[in-house]
Amino acid sequence: MADKVKALVWSEFTEPKDVYPVGIHGEIAKHLNAQSDVEAKTAQIEDPQQGVSEESLAWADVLLWWGHKRHRDITDENLARIVKHVKERGMGYFAIHSAHYSRGLIALLETGCGLGGVGNGGAETVSVVMPDHPIAEGVTDFVVPQTEYFTEPFDVPEPEAVVLRSTFETDDKLWFRSGSCWTVEEGRVFYFRPGHETFPIMRQPEVLKVVYNGTLWAAKRT
Ligand code: ZN
Repeated sequence: MADKVKALVWSEFTEPKDVYPVGIHGEIAKHLNAQSDVEAKTAQIEDPQQGVSEESLAWADVLLWWGHKRHRDITDENLARIVKHVKERGMGYFAIHSAHYSRGLIALLETGCGLGGVGNGGAETVSVVMPDHPIAEGVTDFVVPQTEYFTEPFDVPEPEAVVLRSTFETDDKLWFRSGSCWTVEEGRVFYFRPGHETFPIMRQPEVLKVVYNGTLWAAKRT
C-alpha cells in the first residue's frame, strides 16, 4: 500500500467559534484523518512561521488553505516558501472559498484572483461538469442550503479543468467556476468555492467528499 497522503490543513482561524469550534482546518483534518489513505495535520497563522515552516511544508504532499481577513498578514518570506514547495517540489495547493484572495493562490496563478461580485444568502447548486475527472469521483450534483455567493468573472488564468460549476438561488443569472484545476510548474493547484465560515458547509458530506478528492488530486495521487 502506498504511503498515506500528507495533508497540511491551514486556517487563519478567524472563523466563528460557534460554527466551527475547531476551525475549518480542524473540521477538514478530522474528516481526512477518518480516511484510510490520508494523514492530516492542522496549522494556523499564530503558529511559528505562520504555520508554514520549512519542516511543515517539507512534510506535506498538499497544503489546504482557508483564510478570509488576514491574507495580507502572510509575510513575504512565508509566501516564498509556499510557492517554492509548489513549483519546485510539487506540493499541491488547495485553496478553499475566500482563499481565492490568499497570497499563495495569487502568487501561483499570477493574476489578481478577484471576483465579479459577492453576496450573502440563498442556496447554491453545485453541478458536476466533468464527471470523469478524479475530483468528481463519487460526486453528483448537490445543493449547499445556505451560502455566500461569488460571481464571475473570476480573475484567474483559464483553468486546465473546471470540474464543478455553481449557480445561485439569489439570482439565476449568477454562476461560478467552483472547482478549478491548474498545474504550476511541478505542482497542482485546486480551487474549491464552497466554504463560507458563517454556515456549517464544511460538515456537509458532499462538500467533504470534494475536499477529499481534491486533496488526493492536488497531491498527485489521482
Ligand atoms: Zn465567505
